[in-house]
Amino acid sequence: MFLDLLNNIAITTAFLFVAGKAFQNRPLNEDNTYKTKLMLGVGGGILGTLLMLNSIHPNETVIVDLRHLAMVLAGVFGGPLSAILSAVVIGVMRIGLYGISTASLVACAVTILSGVIMGLLSLIRLPKTLYRYLLLNAFGMLAFAATLFYLLKDTGLTTLVLSYFIPFAIGGNIFTYFLAETLKKANQNHRDIKYYKLLAENSSDLISTHFLDGRFKYVSPSSKAILGYEPDELIGKNPYDFYHWEDLERITDSHNTVKESSEESVVEYRFRKKDGSYVWLETTSKRMTDLGIEKNELICSSRDVDLRKDLESDLIEKNNRLKRLSNMDGLTEIFNRRYFDSMLEEEWAKAIHHKTPLTLIMFDIDYFKFYNDTYGHQQGDECIKEIANVGKTVLNRPHDLIARYGGEEFAVILPDTKENGALKVAEAIRKSVQVLAIPHVNSKVKPIVTVSVGVAVVEPTEDMNHLQLVVDADEALYTAKKNGRNQVHLYNDTDQSERVQGEETSVR
Ligand code: GH3
Ligand code: MG
Ligand code: MG
Repeated sequence: MFLDLLNNIAITTAFLFVAGKAFQNRPLNEDNTYKTKLMLGVGGGILGTLLMLNSIHPNETVIVDLRHLAMVLAGVFGGPLSAILSAVVIGVMRIGLYGISTASLVACAVTILSGVIMGLLSLIRLPKTLYRYLLLNAFGMLAFAATLFYLLKDTGLTTLVLSYFIPFAIGGNIFTYFLAETLKKANQNHRDIKYYKLLAENSSDLISTHFLDGRFKYVSPSSKAILGYEPDELIGKNPYDFYHWEDLERITDSHNTVKESSEESVVEYRFRKKDGSYVWLETTSKRMTDLGIEKNELICSSRDVDLRKDLESDLIEKNNRLKRLSNMDGLTEIFNRRYFDSMLEEEWAKAIHHKTPLTLIMFDIDYFKFYNDTYGHQQGDECIKEIANVGKTVLNRPHDLIARYGGEEFAVILPDTKENGALKVAEAIRKSVQVLAIPHVNSKVKPIVTVSVGVAVVEPTEDMNHLQLVVDADEALYTAKKNGRNQVHLYNDTDQSERVQGEETSVR
């Protein structure tokens, strides 16, 4: 008797595994379709039939087995419809298998009635699934125990039969609960894995997992579209072999961040595609946690940002060009007054910091009004351009700067330059203009275009103002004009410039 009932539990176990496989891709919940409910009902009926085939026969017509467990499972998973359907199948099969007898008719009636009541009991909302198993089982077990009691009352076997039936019914119920729940969870995991794999494989982004050293472990199929490689061509490879060398530092930093913390990191870099070209990727990576043995892995999601990068560099280039243009003088293509002002401030601060002298030269074309009157405004423009060019060629240190200060007046900044050097440059400008020998018949100096040059040199300190240097250079220029033009004049503090005899140069 013991082995027969154990056999019932073994059959139930085997059946649950088969059913688990059958429902692997079909979640069982309250939203079951009618088809699923019917399948569960028929399944319960088949299990009950198998159990009846392995029943105990205390006399010719009575059989004892755990068929109610099949109805409990049908009720728990499928609700009333499944419970009733399984009960009908089992009830009918009871008569079909063992013929019509009082016992079979009673058993059939009790089975179907129990199915209906267990179905209704399955509708009761309980906080735990286990309670539903216990409730349905308690009713089924009592119904069948009562039936056995009734059918066996004259045989003297009641106590013996029930002493096996009841413990097996309770133990079997709890066992099937744990087994069914384990299978249910396994099926849910199976579906989750399939679902998330599907997500990764259908993502237009590249999903990859990596060992801690960076080697690819998994690569989603979008690698073909993004990188030109099939996933298999990358799995096991070291991605560092594909990175652009200029981005290595950034990638290593990001890699170290995710390796050493649970933080996520985003990095933009170039990856060499199968065709040898590079694609810009934006990769978000994170170390995987809660993976047990696989916790030493990184998960990455990479996106092709080539288009954005192109737009960015285009924008940067346009911005730079705009910046350059906004610093340039349109006519002469040397720096303009705005840029001169900002650079003077910058060089002024540098000179204070390094305790170095700073020179400012201002020069202005002599009698230019007459030039315009004589040769026309357009020719005047050409003349201004030529003078600017000459000024440019005279300067040869990288930090020297010439700007059009306004009209036909120019300013030159010479960082780290003392008086001697300043005067040399100033004189070189004056001479170079003269060497050009642009005709200017109405000049009162010479029949060619000449310039007057004012020079101011200072070793700036915190308590001084850079605008004073401009005023000084301008004053020196004014003196050069006053003293006869086509000459260089160095500003002096007392504003009492002495005229040193030189052919055309006046310096102190
Ligand atoms: P000075 O020797 O004292 O400098 O005499 P100047 O005639 O040059 O006098 P000033 O510097 O006051 O006059 C500058 C003239 O330069 C005024 C204007 O007609 C001319 N000018 C200013 N800007 C431009 C320009 O962009 N193009 C042309 N063609 N002429 C300009
Ligand atoms: Mg002038
Ligand atoms: Mg002027």
